[in-house]
Amino acid sequence: MTLSILQYGDPILRAKGKRIDQIDDRIRELAANMLETMHEANGVGLAAQQVGEALQLTVLDVSQVEDRPSTMRLNGKEADPKTQMPLVLINPQIELSDATETGTEGCLSFPEITGAIERAASATVRAENLEGGRIEIEAGGLLARALQHEIDHLNGILFIDRMSSVAKAALASRLKRMQKETRRGRAKDQQAVSETTL
Ligand SMILES: [Zn+2]
Repeated sequence: MTLSILQYGDPILRAKGKRIDQIDDRIRELAANMLETMHEANGVGLAAQQVGEALQLTVLDVSQVEDRPSTMRLNGKEADPKTQMPLVLINPQIELSDATETGTEGCLSFPEITGAIERAASATVRAENLEGGRIEIEAGGLLARALQHEIDHLNGILFIDRMSSVAKAALASRLKRMQKETRRGRAKDQQAVSETTL
């Protein structure tokens, strides 16, 4: 089942995700729905906050991106990123390299907005998978960037927070408008819910 993707202005996008202590049917179903939602939206990553759940859960898939390569080591061994996708990461912890790289990013919660974001060139992520096993991913290229973007979401951090102040100032009025529209839409949704429950 595809889920609706929350847009900038929704307060859940600013919530820090709760640690997942037990991987039960609800988490498995949420992860499956998030994968379906991400693929349908042609995204390379989706965090639980973006579908309204403040949890330490994210899904990624860089296998369809041809022009921005990724490198990956999985549990200490060289791995082909394409065959390891999609990834479902639970309670991820990230360690960043000192070297940085600037690249273009977009976000499913910010339709039509992209920006140049400076991030660590490589990253190591330790997480649990859906089976509860521990995995370690050392990533470079697009996968490193996507992991940082998604794990930021899990902590309530958005890519606009990492834009230069000049870029952010240029987007200010669009962001304000988006925030307003999201809040108005949400107020309407809540009204609809209360009307049907009455
Ligand atoms: Zn995003």
